[in-house]
Amino acid sequence: MHHDVRRPSIARIYDWLLGGVDNYPADHRVGEDLLGIAPGCRTVALTNRAFLRRVVHTLAHDYGIRQFLEHGCGLPARDNVHEVAQAVDREARVVYVDNDPLVVAHARTRLVENPRTAVVAADVRDTGAIFGNPAVRRLIRPGEPTAALFVSVAQCLDDEDVTPMIERVKQRLAPGSFLVVCQLTSPYPEVRDRVTNLMHKATEGSWGRLREEHEVRGYLDGLEIIEPGLGDVADWRPERRPTLSSAAAELIAWGGVGRLPG
Ligand code: SAM
Repeated sequence: MHHDVRRPSIARIYDWLLGGVDNYPADHRVGEDLLGIAPGCRTVALTNRAFLRRVVHTLAHDYGIRQFLEHGCGLPARDNVHEVAQAVDREARVVYVDNDPLVVAHARTRLVENPRTAVVAADVRDTGAIFGNPAVRRLIRPGEPTAALFVSVAQCLDDEDVTPMIERVKQRLAPGSFLVVCQLTSPYPEVRDRVTNLMHKATEGSWGRLREEHEVRGYLDGLEIIEPGLGDVADWRPERRPTLSSAAAELIAWGGVGRLPG
């Protein structure tokens, strides 16, 4: 793993869309191209991030979850998982996983003071390495329900990788655990193709594809889907007024939360 700022990275492009400062001209150019294809891209990134915050708060506060494993955590931003979970209970434990060296370096700097939080440098598809990592073994108790998060990361993976990865993680989790899955979708084939092609080129192949809603639904097959179900995550337990329907939106962060039988 290397950190070359002349090459765009998914984490830095996403950081740029969110209004963060850990990004460089190579990332801005891809971000601008994304906005050219899908002007709603920035709103979708913010919507996705707000969903992450609500879902962690809900699982900690309403469902009593005290251990979280975030696959593909991205650069530290507002309301990181440990901040949200530990605001509910300071004993909550959080492990972040990412394969971007800048993400890992920044996350480690931010977490130095927090003994109940760790970051693991790993590929999210490498379930064995993740669960065998000393930090995961220390913080994620195998007998206790976990929230495993896959928020805005499945679009970075190929078709043949996503379902097996989720299946492997399910098998590692205690009964009553939660899977949070949300990915970038588009109802429009042209938008799916253009964004997929742009990101493929920009990341030199470290990208899967934009998908359709029914494909994301399939990732949570067989699980009990908790309220309000699967859909545009803007509508997942919104805190204020119901959000406007995004039926016409060219990009939708789509997903929800499934619970393993407990
Ligand atoms: N989960 C955060 C959120 O929703 O706000 C960040 C999502 S960001 C769009 C996707 C992150 O997944 C990036 O930080 C990227 O480095 C990471 N990622 C992509 N493919 C990965 C892989 N195969 N293994 C580990 N991390 C990966």
